[in-house]
Amino acid sequence: MIPLLGEEEAQAAAEAVRSGWVAQGPRVKSFEHEFAAAVGAAHGVATSSCTTALHLALVVLGIKPGDEVVVPSFSFIATANAVRYVGATPVFADVDLATGNVTVETVDAVRTAKTRAVVAVHQGGVPFDTAALRKAADGWGVHLVEDAACGAGSTAYGQPVGAGAAVAAWSFHPRKLLTTGEGGMVTVDDAGHATRLRRLREHGMNVSAADRHASSQPVLEAYLETAYNYRMTDIQAAIGLVQLGRLAGLVAQRRQLAARYHELLDGIEGLTPIKDPAYGQTNYQSFWVLLDSFPTSRDDVLAELAAQGVSARRGIMAAHLEPAYADVAPPPLPVTERLTRNSLILPLHHKLTADDQERIVSVLRGLSR
Ligand SMILES: *Cc1c(COP(=O)(O)O)cnc(C)c1O
Repeated sequence: MIPLLGEEEAQAAAEAVRSGWVAQGPRVKSFEHEFAAAVGAAHGVATSSCTTALHLALVVLGIKPGDEVVVPSFSFIATANAVRYVGATPVFADVDLATGNVTVETVDAVRTAKTRAVVAVHQGGVPFDTAALRKAADGWGVHLVEDAACGAGSTAYGQPVGAGAAVAAWSFHPRKLLTTGEGGMVTVDDAGHATRLRRLREHGMNVSAADRHASSQPVLEAYLETAYNYRMTDIQAAIGLVQLGRLAGLVAQRRQLAARYHELLDGIEGLTPIKDPAYGQTNYQSFWVLLDSFPTSRDDVLAELAAQGVSARRGIMAAHLEPAYADVAPPPLPVTERLTRNSLILPLHHKLTADDQERIVSVLRGLSR
């Protein structure tokens, strides 16, 4: 992933600096408004990252020590870490081989009487089945938090993945489609949750520092609860507003490049590229290929690609295989382990040319025999 940052972003950041509003201010407010509208959500609350967005999402839902939260192990480690931040216990669920996402069945298999929430991930941009999981979570009486770190521009059932989500968390790290350097957002459908989230990210204050400074009258703030400093800056939001204008074009270009990979990879045996599920479209933030019955091991393929100057990456990680989770006895996660050990992510960015793609695929074809 190479972020697309142009003169427009540099200009917007410079304007924010010149305006004197460098911390959270009016640009953050507009970015929240425009981002929420773009992803089909009612309210947006900007944060310092998706990790802090996930933390606040679990706080606002009242998840606490003793509670279990079902999460995929097959995700960036922040998904599981956020559960531990509130003192709850992450319980790993396996994923579907075709999408890399949890399903109603894989969550149901590990759910217990202590399960209070599920964090489902739109992994690498591939939407999970929003209709099925939202309905199942309702039926079980558990909260569904949607980790949409990779989901900007992805759709399910003809709508942006943020539409209809009770709580979703987004990332603007440079490895995602849209970037603000670091940054994140919680989107929610409930106005009360939005109000509490705004307070939680800003020390528990009943009035934001921005509103206090903008007022002509002295405003005496109160601190209603012990909270956090998880704010985004106006410099970041200024960049985000420009990036948001690029979203549709970025997704269209990535989908074209992915379609070209699909054509070129067609017919290479033992290699399965990620594709759209029946109910939606991925933004192809990550274009991964599964090498299941491929004659060359995944690590040897990575090494050969590197030797040819191609920077492919290992597949998405599995948290339960990391030392940080060595104390957790996970249920069997056969699909997660198959995906994390046998997949790799091919280069896909705005500078990738048709020649690059042919060269990359010819290396793979050479290793397939
Ligand atoms: C990147 C990512 C995160 C963390 O996002 P940050 O903004 O870097 O904190 C969380 N979950 C998933 C699925 C991610 O891909």
